Amino acid sequence: MPMKIAIAKETGEKERRVALIPDTVARLVKQGFEVWLEPGAGEGAFFLDDAYVQAGAKIVADRSTLWSTAEIVLKVGIPTADEISQLHSGGALISFLSPLANPQLIQQLANQGVTAFSMELIPRTSRAQSMDALSSQAGVAGYKAVLLAAAALPKFFPMLTTAAGTIKPAKVFVLGAGVAGLQAIATSRRLGAVVEAFDIRPAVKEEVQSLGAKFVEIILEEETVAAGGYAKEISDRAKAKTQEVLTQHVRDSDVVITTAQVPGKKAPILVTEAMIAQMKPGSVVVDMAADQGGNCEGTQAGKSIQFHDVTIIGTVNLPADMPIHASQMYSKNIATFLQYLVKDGQLNLDFTDDIISSTCVAHNGEVLNQRVKDALLVPSI
Ligand code: NAD
Repeated sequence: MPMKIAIAKETGEKERRVALIPDTVARLVKQGFEVWLEPGAGEGAFFLDDAYVQAGAKIVADRSTLWSTAEIVLKVGIPTADEISQLHSGGALISFLSPLANPQLIQQLANQGVTAFSMELIPRTSRAQSMDALSSQAGVAGYKAVLLAAAALPKFFPMLTTAAGTIKPAKVFVLGAGVAGLQAIATSRRLGAVVEAFDIRPAVKEEVQSLGAKFVEIILEEETVAAGGYAKEISDRAKAKTQEVLTQHVRDSDVVITTAQVPGKKAPILVTEAMIAQMKPGSVVVDMAADQGGNCEGTQAGKSIQFHDVTIIGTVNLPADMPIHASQMYSKNIATFLQYLVKDGQLNLDFTDDIISSTCVAHNGEVLNQRVKDALLVPSI
């Protein structure tokens, strides 16, 4: 019997991505999967039902049938408690789940006997690279952030020599040179800006330079890298030292793009109100950490505001604003993961494999991830 996998329609506000695109469906059908589609699931990303049908998917019009009968439900955004309540015991769910922020949902999945995989927990290793949805979506976000900045900036990005005079290139400063930051650097360079970047992880210096940007080096004299290559929260002394240097670079920039995150913590404040007050009127800050509390004082998540004559754009879920390619990349991540999980039409869970053990947050009635278990013990306010 072919395994039935279902593409659920996203219900989140402003979510326009879809978990699988028709090209991927065609490949999965060839490999022996039966693919179900909730009508209109791809519409937000301009993938229409007809294209899915041509690729071999079956339209399942009744939402509750799709959720309660499919062997694996595929999603992008966090499902609602109501959606989860329709899943059957023994069924599986693959989606972004934000498990640390939503431990109760993971508990609900476990209580219902659902096997749940959280796409943000795919290990950031070379072996898992083609399943790494955090990276694929961060790349989309980094690109889009620069386009938002360019559209809001009352200036050109490139240098221009014209009969009406010479235009100086815009100066862009990228704070945080992870996946999103590196894409923001590359995109700003392609648009002709002069780019500087800073990150507390010194290892990114060469990557920044190889993209044609200048790395702002600040020697912090403490360990800034945690397990897995992620950033650590730095001491107050290091923060003060950082801010002193950043003040001058922020002041001289036309555009500041902030992407700094520390896993499990509120985003660090890197750009203070005093720094913003010193920026040139008309300058732009795009705060990509807005939904984690923001890297910039004054940021309002989901809003574009004027603060001391500077535009601050607090972005939320930028990949959803580029749904075709964001969905194409997520679809590739999901399909690779599925091929890894499913053998002979069955889930094949080898918990000695780090890709399975990292991502599987609920199985056989239990919450598996220790950090999610710890989060469940914290009383909600
Ligand atoms: P992230 O979204 O967690 O954070 C973005 C950036 O903010 C990081 O570069 C971080 O160092 C930086 N940052 C944190 N605090 C800061 C501060 N106070 N000031 C300035 N910058 C600050 O990062 P990410 O893009 O998800 O990448 C995290 C790690 O995963 C990196 O080490 C990256 O190289 C690694 N990674 C590995 C692979 C792979 O091997 N396949 C793929 C993707 C990412």
